[in-house]
Amino acid sequence: MATDPNCIFCKIAAGTIPSVKLWDDADTLAFMDINPANDGHCLVIPKAHFPTLFALAPEAFAAAGRTVIKVANAVQAALTPDGINLLQANGPGAGQSVFHFHIHVLPRQHGDGLSINWTPRPGDRARIAGIADKIRKHL
Ligand code: AMP
Ligand code: ZN
Repeated sequence: MATDPNCIFCKIAAGTIPSVKLWDDADTLAFMDINPANDGHCLVIPKAHFPTLFALAPEAFAAAGRTVIKVANAVQAALTPDGINLLQANGPGAGQSVFHFHIHVLPRQHGDGLSINWTPRPGDRARIAGIADKIRKHL
């Protein structure tokens, strides 16, 4: 499996740096975003390192998609947001900041004012962990 020793998401996948995990299987991982744009904002990654969609193996996209469906359903059940956006950025012009393919599962509320490129702000760690506990109950 491709890995990049300098990639933060490869380190999260390997467990060498911490994350608040929601789902962990052979090919994918879902974890809470450290700078949530809204409560319940989380990320799904293939464990293998692909910088962008342009380099992605189709089977890695399929595996990530299966996990996205599970996780998005759990987020919806746990938090009952008004909706959920899936967001996936490729390249700096698209707002990509971590070059390991990932899909944002982003709960939305009417009037939350989010635009596609929001300004990242650190979340409260205890609040993120509490929300993750609620989501995990539905996985
Ligand atoms: P993007 O800007 O689409 O590349 O998204 C990268 C996301 O990764 C951002 O929403 C960051 O808040 C998030 N992020 C960066 N480092 C971490 C980390 N160590 N743990 C969890 N989320 C992270
Ligand atoms: Zn990586």
